[in-house]
Amino acid sequence: MTDLTFAAPKTVLVPTADDRRFPVRRIFCVGRNYAEHAREMGADPDRESPFFFCKPADSVVVGGAPTPYPARTRLLHHEVELVVAIGIVGAEIPVAAALDHVWGYAVGIDMTRRDLQAEAKSHGRPWDMAKGFDASAPLGRLFPVGSVGHPHAGEISLQVNGEARQRADIGELIWNVSEIIAELSTLVRLEPGDLIYTGTPAGVGPVVRGDRITASIAGLGSLETVIV
Ligand code: MN
Repeated sequence: MTDLTFAAPKTVLVPTADDRRFPVRRIFCVGRNYAEHAREMGADPDRESPFFFCKPADSVVVGGAPTPYPARTRLLHHEVELVVAIGIVGAEIPVAAALDHVWGYAVGIDMTRRDLQAEAKSHGRPWDMAKGFDASAPLGRLFPVGSVGHPHAGEISLQVNGEARQRADIGELIWNVSEIIAELSTLVRLEPGDLIYTGTPAGVGPVVRGDRITASIAGLGSLETVIV
């Protein structure tokens, strides 16, 4: 085509464990989905409906590439999360059928400008600039359901420079993967290429330039990135 005003943006492609590439369409994230993390954020962990926010598709950092420290923050936090990759379109998906829409799973990090998030919260403003900035979504290799099944328990952890910061079990999710997919699909039509960051356990904290983050989930390997 010669009528494009400029070259079309490149789709982010996430390497998969079966040596293919998963094209990213959208990124949805769940807030406060582990009780201990809800408490550390000053919220009541009672089972409120899951709530969602978004990151741009091109905020994904793949292949263990370095993660640039973003502008306009003095408090960049790590949040290790189980990430669900959608492979089949669906709206109004019943809980019992939700897992049929999953292509696979990965470990991801929801990088957060905690200072801007606190300011947004205090003014009742959107979280976009606290959550959806450039390179805010490091992501490990995607593992297809055919090889790892649907993980419903197992350790989720994050280390900074070898020091344990977050450690929990994905079985502690307040809203499990099926429930998240069902609820989100009442708000938007899920499409192949959509990613869902399912929320972080307790222990979130700051990182600075030079820090090496290692995030792991049992069965899904590890993701490493250096803050630069
Ligand atoms: Mn998060």
